[in-house]
Order: sequence, then structure tokens, then C-alpha cells
Amino acid sequence: MERCLFFLKPDGVIRRYVGARTIKEILSEDLDIEFFGKVSPQKDFFADQHYKEHKSKFFYDWLLEYVISSPVVVMVLHGEDAVSIVRNKLGDTNPEDASPDSIRGRYGLSPGINATHASDSGENGEREIEVWSEFLTERKEPRKRAEEYIEKYIDYPMIDPLRYKEVSERFLKDEITGGEAKRKFTRLLKKETDTPEENIEKFSEVMVKDVMMRKD
Ligand code: ADP
Ligand code: MG
Repeated sequence: MERCLFFLKPDGVIRRYVGARTIKEILSEDLDIEFFGKVSPQKDFFADQHYKEHKSKFFYDWLLEYVISSPVVVMVLHGEDAVSIVRNKLGDTNPEDASPDSIRGRYGLSPGINATHASDSGENGEREIEVWSEFLTERKEPRKRAEEYIEKYIDYPMIDPLRYKEVSERFLKDEITGGEAKRKFTRLLKKETDTPEENIEKFSEVMVKDVMMRKD
């Protein structure tokens, strides 16, 4: 038996259908849900704890900004092969390499914006659960609350990821400015969410910076 820490990243939270569909697919596996909840860790938590192994990577600063651009929805999953079951469902880190029927393959927007996180081994699962323990405070009936989350958001409309990729591509080629790209991202996101304007704006900014990271 092993445990896996999973969370919906800001795109998976803001894009309501994507988050609901992802959680629905995880719940369909034969795993216990030990925790379900929406939490908002600070930047320092991701920098010094959760993502510290990535400190030397070129995308580290951007990654921190990405994961704090909105609350995340966390689950702790427990069962036989919990890690490989969840990781297989998510697919490869880069959506372009992920199987087309995996979560990241279907909904990921770029190498970094891939909707989800999951521990990559049983050992890291335990380590991450320990690190996250301040947020994983006892809450009743996690499976029921996960089901309510699905019910609430599963009928939201979804914008085809290709639409976001087209905007990124046009900005990458300098056919549009960063400001124009941001306005287009915001307009698309608003069609698939009810999250506060402030989070949508922050996340659109992160999407623009994601392209800029690949521009130079
Ligand atoms: P995973 O999330 O599949 O375990 P990693 O631990 O290697 O992947 O990376 C952590 C996160 O960092 C990824 O999920 C992704 O959001 C981001 N990331 C990884 N590689 C890149 C990249 N080349 N460009 C931008 N972001 C990246
Ligand atoms: Mg990882």
C-alpha cells in the first residue's frame, strides 16, 4: 500500500470542467481518498518545501508564480500502486509527450501548464504528505466532498486547449503583443470559469510569461 499526494494546479482549478473531469477519473480508481480540500499555500512553501528540488531549473521562478496564481485542490490517495495509478492517468509531464487519452494529454496547455501534480514514488508521496501536513487538516467525508466538487463543475463548458495554444503560438511569433495575448487568454478563461477576476488575471499573466520563457 502506498500514498500519493495529488493536486489540481491553478489551470485545473480555474478551468472548471478540466478539474471536475480529472477528479472524476481519479475517483473511478479503486483508491481511498484520505483528504480532499482547497488550499492556498504561500510562495515560500512551494519554494522551500514542495518544489525545492527544482531550484536550479530555468523554469523554477515561473513555476512558483504559476502554482500560487490561484488556490489548489489537494487530494491524498491511498491504496495499492496509488502512485503509478495516478501518474498513469495524468500522463507525461509535457502534454505534447503525454498520451492523447491522459489528463495532461487532453487538457495540458504547455510543458509547464499541465493541470495537475502527483507524487512520483511512494517514498516521495510520504515526504510530500508530511510537508503538506499543515494544510491537510482533518476534514470529514473527503470522498463525498470530492463527489460534490465533480457535481458542481462537471457541466461547465470547456474551451479547446488548441485555442490557448493558438494564442501562445501567435505571441511566440510576435504576431500579437503580450498585452493582446493576455487579453485573449482572459477572455477564453472567463468562458470556462466562475473564479474571481483576480485569479483569472494572475493566471493569464502566468500564461504570457510561460510563452516569454520560451521566446528567449
Ligand atoms: P511532474 O510534475 O510530472 O512530476 P517535474 O517534477 O519534472 O514533473 O516538474 C514539476 C513541474 O515543473 C511540472 O509538472 C511542470 O509544471 C513544470 N515543468 C517541468 N518541466 C518544465 C519545462 N520544461 N518548462 C516549464 N515548466 C516545466
Ligand atoms: Mg515531480
